Amino acid sequence: MPLSSAGSAEFLQTLRHQVGQKHVISDTLTMADWMVEPRNLFTGEALAVVRPATTSEVVAVVKSCASAGVSIVPQGGNSGLCGGGTPIPENHSILLSLSRLNRIRQVNPANNSLIVEAGCIIANIQQAAEQADRLFPLSFAADGTAQIGGAIGTNAGGTNVLRYGNTRDLVRGLEVVLPNGDLLDDLSGLRKDNTGYDLKNLFIGAEGTLGVVTAANLKLFAPPAQRHTAWVAINNLANGIELLADLQQRSDGAVSGCELLSATSLEFVLRHRPDCRTPLGTIHPWYLLLELTASNHYESTGQLLENCLADFLQKGKVEDALIAQSLTQGRDFWRIREAIPEAQKLEGGSIKHDISLPSENLAAFVTDTLPLLHQQLSAIRPCIFGHLGDGNLHFNLSQPTAMDEAEFIGQWERFNRIVHDQVDKFGGSISAEHGIGQLKRQELARYKSPVALNLMRQIKRSIDPHNLMNPGKVLPDDE
Ligand SMILES: Cc1cc2nc3c(=O)[nH]c(=O)nc-3n(C[C@H](O)[C@H](O)[C@H](O)COP(=O)(O)OP(=O)(O)OC[C@H]3O[C@@H](n4cnc5c(N)ncnc54)[C@H](O)[C@@H]3O)c2cc1C
Repeated sequence: MPLSSAGSAEFLQTLRHQVGQKHVISDTLTMADWMVEPRNLFTGEALAVVRPATTSEVVAVVKSCASAGVSIVPQGGNSGLCGGGTPIPENHSILLSLSRLNRIRQVNPANNSLIVEAGCIIANIQQAAEQADRLFPLSFAADGTAQIGGAIGTNAGGTNVLRYGNTRDLVRGLEVVLPNGDLLDDLSGLRKDNTGYDLKNLFIGAEGTLGVVTAANLKLFAPPAQRHTAWVAINNLANGIELLADLQQRSDGAVSGCELLSATSLEFVLRHRPDCRTPLGTIHPWYLLLELTASNHYESTGQLLENCLADFLQKGKVEDALIAQSLTQGRDFWRIREAIPEAQKLEGGSIKHDISLPSENLAAFVTDTLPLLHQQLSAIRPCIFGHLGDGNLHFNLSQPTAMDEAEFIGQWERFNRIVHDQVDKFGGSISAEHGIGQLKRQELARYKSPVALNLMRQIKRSIDPHNLMNPGKVLPDDE
């Protein structure tokens, strides 16, 4: 039930007392930047953008919202790709921007941990860890914008998951403001604590639907002393998966990255990024970007990589390979991978699928699905890339060059259905990294088991009975 205009004015005045006059923004023009998600797929409306700077300010704001019945949309760096941080139109929520809640509270290298506030940009956390001679391994193309609160909200993955896990695996404890304003303080970061349900995990990947994360206790690691990067051409995905398994076994799990690029995704990058050059002369259907790291100087991880690639070349399971001769050359390889999303944007409309599959089904999924797409639209251009080591593909479909962009995007649901039905058939997930947000709520209803969905609804109702936290996200509408 929206507030009356007098009620709104009084409510906003209360918030201004709580966080400061200039940190409650309510004119539509100034709010516009917060109201659109990065791909322009969703535009929202809000009563105000509210920017608290401390946990106690968040508590005060959430309590005011609870008593006025006003819903809250938490937003971090607004780099999420499913519309989770964008308010739904006409819901009369406040948008709670966490950007000012950005202090690093504690760095503890002896305990390999650090405590940060939710609005800390991920690149700044990486830097703080580096200054303490430690590694914070969460890394992805938007880590200069995304905040740790958003990464926790979406359980973000990225390029180091293979070795260090998703955000969930990097969190030891959380501080969370619940929808009624209560503060859950679980920041101790104990390595052992078997005193009942693991509550922090409820809030990781919840996309702000259960509470506002205000701080986190995160894991740190020894920084790599050796880094070996290779660019590898393969003819089929099954060989790539076999190579990765072999390399993992030989190196005792030292593979920290295994990224996949299709020939089309490389072609897009080379067309739009003059600073990127193809590492190998001839064109191959697929490429792997492999990286091994070790935190010691003693073992020859580089030699091991060379031996493994030589064996696979000899067996005919690798077409060609280049091991970076310097860190700069290694970074050049990574630049190609990181340039794909931007290059794909410049190729016109794209229908995206962020999917994961069991590794044993991944190659069969791709072989089985591509003809189905070409049967529908022969000139469609699949631009497939992703984190092969995690079974995670960005299975993106670029428009035919001669087609009108809007006409292509108009077929979003038709292509979603084909791809997601195939994902389901091969035992995968329709959202590997980016979450559900607004974008995939109805897809969740279709593919999530009714038992799991019912349990999710019960959890939501018990923590947030008045549906004040991020309404219209994740859970499909009740039938
Ligand atoms: C170029 C590009 C590359 C990307 N690559 C990857 C990738 O490799 N892997 C990957 O996993 N993702 C990737 N993403 C997606 C995105 O960057 C991540 O999901 C990121 O973690 C979102 O962080 P954010 O701070 O921008 O969150 P936002 O977009 O602001 O919010 C995301 C969700 O979290 C909720 N939220 C935000 N802050 C809080 C909080 N403090 N408490 C509770 N809920 C909160 C929001 O309500 C929303 O539902 C990429 C995005 C871009 C644009």
